[in-house]
Amino acid sequence: MSPIVGIDLGTTNSLCAVFEDGKPRLIKNAHGNVLTPSVVGVLPDGQVLVGQAAKELRVTQPQRCGSRFKRYMGTSEKLSLGDQQFTAPQLSSLVLKSLKHDAEADLGVTVEEAVITVPAYFNDHQRRATKLAGELAGFRVRRIINEPTAAALTYGFHDRQAEKHLLVVDLGGGTFDVTLMEIFEGTLEIVATSGESMLGGEDFTDRLVSNILQGEGLHLESCEMRQPLRVARLRDVCELAKQRLAHQDLVEVPVPDEQGMITDQAKRVPVSREQFAMLMTPLLERLLGPVYKALRDGERAPETVAEIICVGGATRLNCMHDFIAAKLGAQPLMTFNPDEVVALGAAVQAALLSQDRAVDDMVMTDVCPHTLGVEVAKLFGSQRNSGYFEPIIHRNTTIPVSRESVFCTIEPNQYTVKLKVYQGESRKVKDNLALGELSVDGLPPGPPGTEFVVRFTYDTNGILEVEAFVPATGKKYSTVLTQPQSSLSEDEVAEAVKRMQAVKFYPRDELENQRLLRYCERLVGEVSPMHREQLESAIDVWEAAMSSGDREFFLRAREGLLIVLSQLGYEFESDSGAE
Ligand code: ADP
Ligand code: MG
Repeated sequence: MSPIVGIDLGTTNSLCAVFEDGKPRLIKNAHGNVLTPSVVGVLPDGQVLVGQAAKELRVTQPQRCGSRFKRYMGTSEKLSLGDQQFTAPQLSSLVLKSLKHDAEADLGVTVEEAVITVPAYFNDHQRRATKLAGELAGFRVRRIINEPTAAALTYGFHDRQAEKHLLVVDLGGGTFDVTLMEIFEGTLEIVATSGESMLGGEDFTDRLVSNILQGEGLHLESCEMRQPLRVARLRDVCELAKQRLAHQDLVEVPVPDEQGMITDQAKRVPVSREQFAMLMTPLLERLLGPVYKALRDGERAPETVAEIICVGGATRLNCMHDFIAAKLGAQPLMTFNPDEVVALGAAVQAALLSQDRAVDDMVMTDVCPHTLGVEVAKLFGSQRNSGYFEPIIHRNTTIPVSRESVFCTIEPNQYTVKLKVYQGESRKVKDNLALGELSVDGLPPGPPGTEFVVRFTYDTNGILEVEAFVPATGKKYSTVLTQPQSSLSEDEVAEAVKRMQAVKFYPRDELENQRLLRYCERLVGEVSPMHREQLESAIDVWEAAMSSGDREFFLRAREGLLIVLSQLGYEFESDSGAE
C-alpha cells in the first residue's frame, strides 16, 4: 500500500517523513540531507531546480530564484523567476513535488497522499493555499495540521503513557507559535494555541543589524534603501554571529563597507552572549504574551506545565532558553532536533490516518486557533451602527466543530442578507480578516426580524464551511469559503495541476552535478583574479562534460574540477553539511 507522507513545508527548509516499522523516519533528498531548502530556481532552459542546488544558484543569479515564499501564502502576490511568474502556492508545490520525488526514490513506490503542516496561526486563506500547493504537486492532501501540534505528536508518540501538561514553543524564522497540550493515557489533547505572526528568529538578527548600524551612526531603514548591499551582507554576518553565540561566549561582527565588501580594514564589533541577550530583551518579552494567552485560554497556571518543548531553529538561542526558564520555572527541552520534530509528527499523524497498529492506542484532538464569526449591525436606541464582529466559533474550541447562531433581518421587507464572514479577535470587523461572504436571498416580505440560522463547521484541516437556513421558507444556502487565488473549481484545480506537471524538473540524480556547477560559479566572484581563469576553464569543461553523455569524460572533468577547487583551498562537500 502506498504510504502517506508527512511534510513540514517550512519558510527556510522543508522536510518529509514516513511512518514505517512502527515509527516515523525522515527521508533524505538527492544530496543525502533531510533538510531541503525551500528555494526554487528556474534555469534559462526552463528546467526547475529545488533545494540546495537552487540555493547555490541564488547566490549568483538571485533573479532566477525564489525563497521565503511561505510568507506570501494566502495572498495573490506573484514572484518572478527569470521570465516566469509564480504564485506562492505554485512555488510551494515545486518544493512539495521535489520531496515527493525523494520519497518515491527512497520508498520505491508512488506516493500520492500527504499530511502537510502549517503554522498554528495560519489563517483560512493560508491553509487553503497550502492545500492547493499540495494538490498542484499531485498529492491528495489528507490533512493540514498545525506545526506545534505535529511537534507535540512526536513527543506524545514517544512518551505515550505520561500524564502531564506540555507547552510547545515554536520560534521559526518569522513566526512564533505556542501550544498547550495535555497527555493522558495515550490521548493527546491540544488545549489551547496562540501565537504572534510577526515575531521570529529573523527579528533577532535584524535587531543586531540595527544595533551595529546605530554604532556607525546609521539607521537600518534608511540604510536599507541607500546601501542595500551593505545591509544584505551585514544581515548575513549577523545571522552567523547569532548562530555562533549558541556555542561561543563572544563573537566579532565585521562591518561591511557600502558595497557590501568585508575588507581587511573592516571594523570588527565584539558582541558577548550577555550583550546579545540584553539587546534582545524587548523581543524576548514579546514571547510572553502568546505564552500567557495560551495558558489563560487553557485555564492552566504556569506551574502546572511539566515540560516546555522547543521547536524551530530559533529556539537554539540561549537567551530564549534562559528567559523562558526564568519566567516559567521549567527548563525548555530539545529531546528531538527542533528542525525535525514537526515532520516526524506529521508522519505520526499520517499513521493515525492510515490506522497503523503502532498508534492504535493514540488519540489526538486539536483546536481552532482563531475566533470565527460574522459581521452584524447593532442598535443603539434608534441609531444603527454596522461593522461589529459577532463570534460563532470561539478560539480554542476543540475541532471538528459545528455551531449555529440565529440572526434576524433589520429592514422591513428585506429580501437579501449578505453574510460577511470574518476571522479574528477584534470587536470591529475592520480589524479582523475577511474570509468571504454568503448571500442569503429570497427572504419573505414582512417586518424586520425575519430569522435565519447560520451554521459554521470547522473541519480537522482548519477549513471553514458556512451554511445558512431560513426557517420561514425552508431554504438552505451553503458555501465553502474561498478567496481569489484559491477559489478554483475542481476543474480549474485539475487544469492547474496539469500545467504544473508540465514543469520539467532537473533530473534528481543529476542535481548534485548542478549544485557543483553553481557552487563553482559562486566562487568565480570570490577567488583572486589570478586564479579566476584556471577556475573558469575547469568549470567550462565540467559544464560541457555534464551535457556530453560521455561517462569517462564526465568523470575526468569532475575529478579535474575538484582538484582545482582543492588547489584554491576550497572543499565541495558532496553530502550533508554543505552550505
Ligand atoms: P521556519 O520553520 O520558519 O522555516 P526554522 O524553524 O527553520 O524556521 O527556523 C529558522 C530560524 O532559526 C532562522 O531565523 C534562523 O536564524 C534561526 N536559527 C537557526 N539556527 C540557529 C542557531 N544555532 N541559533 C539561533 N538561531 C538559529
Ligand atoms: Mg518550522
